[in-house]
Amino acid sequence: MSLAISAAPAAQAADSVSTKPNLIGLSKAELKQAMVELGEKPFRATQLWHWMYHRGETDFDRMTTLHKDFRARLADNYEIRRPRTSVDLKSVDGTRKWLLKMDDGNEIETVHIPEEDRGTLCVSSQIGCTLTCSFCHTGTMRLVRNLTSAEIVGQVMLARDGIGEWPSPSEGRMISNIVMMGMGEPLYNFEEVKKALHICMDAEGIALSRRRITLSTSGIVPGIKRAGEEIGTMLAISLHAVTDELRNVLVPINKKYPLKELMDACRTYPGATNARRITFEYTMLKGINDSPAEARQLVRMLQGIPAKVNLIPFNPWPGAPYECSTDEAIAKFADIVNAAGYASPVRTPRGRDIFAACGQLKSASERPRKSRLDGGLAPAPQVGVLPQQPTVA
Ligand code: SF4
Repeated sequence: MSLAISAAPAAQAADSVSTKPNLIGLSKAELKQAMVELGEKPFRATQLWHWMYHRGETDFDRMTTLHKDFRARLADNYEIRRPRTSVDLKSVDGTRKWLLKMDDGNEIETVHIPEEDRGTLCVSSQIGCTLTCSFCHTGTMRLVRNLTSAEIVGQVMLARDGIGEWPSPSEGRMISNIVMMGMGEPLYNFEEVKKALHICMDAEGIALSRRRITLSTSGIVPGIKRAGEEIGTMLAISLHAVTDELRNVLVPINKKYPLKELMDACRTYPGATNARRITFEYTMLKGINDSPAEARQLVRMLQGIPAKVNLIPFNPWPGAPYECSTDEAIAKFADIVNAAGYASPVRTPRGRDIFAACGQLKSASERPRKSRLDGGLAPAPQVGVLPQQPTVA
């Protein structure tokens, strides 16, 4: 069974700046084929790859190791194109969020979270999402479409442009880690995500280690094993509940892939070891999932899995039906999980002032899904949720 919901439609010209094919997002084999079709030897693709993904060059004319005639033919037939920036916001804590416009006018969000010893880029895989996790702002959007590999890698390229990180530094990177935790469910866009992540991991280009890339899923069980075998990055599970009853509400895909199946898939995830632990994301919701009994149940569920737990204080968004747990409840929960031998850091909220924090991403231009919240728990979210913020671009 194919995991893709639908193939991403070809970019439409309506809002686009160019109709030339984009070389970004092609696999190495596809790039070689494109060079052969231009009458060149396949090794030209290696040179081009270096210019695009190691040096970040977008102008064929500046690719001086390529002969002039070849550069001209490249420019006649192709482009090296990034998504366009609609809004570029910077939080008081240094977190940066880009609202990016695709060729067809749809928008997505990408977030950079700088820390002392690393910088993490949170990348989107879909425009909107089919899943309706009730604590997640993106879950209030309809799925518009899957992103292409060009649009996924393009987020990394654009962030590196913005941060000024070309050519690819071997150490001390501002973008040292990628998490597929932005808008969308990556395992519902398997082929394009796989292609994009292989481009990011390629040693002759962006060269990010597979240990520095985390693919986060809400629990698409058939895709988990496949991701381990065919992509091989770190894995994160958006867990948030320890009973099927509650998880059916918080992460409704649980009705299709209940907790037992999900935890079994984690137990057999290819490559999971104590050095490569699976991360379980657990958003702390006041009075909903934050009791000591639930912490103890979580510990029981994790038995036999090389795991760590990220406790995420809930980041509110307009119309959200939940509140964040108290500091005391979070500390108590963390103590129980820690005492059982599982690291359970509490994630410091980042970028809340620009709605860039976990679970807050949502395109400013997207209309909310009609009353998706079960049982009328909350008023419908507002349209145009991005607060007025100065752009930094
Ligand atoms: S948490 Fe992820 S899978 Fe769930 S609605 Fe939000 S974006 Fe979709």
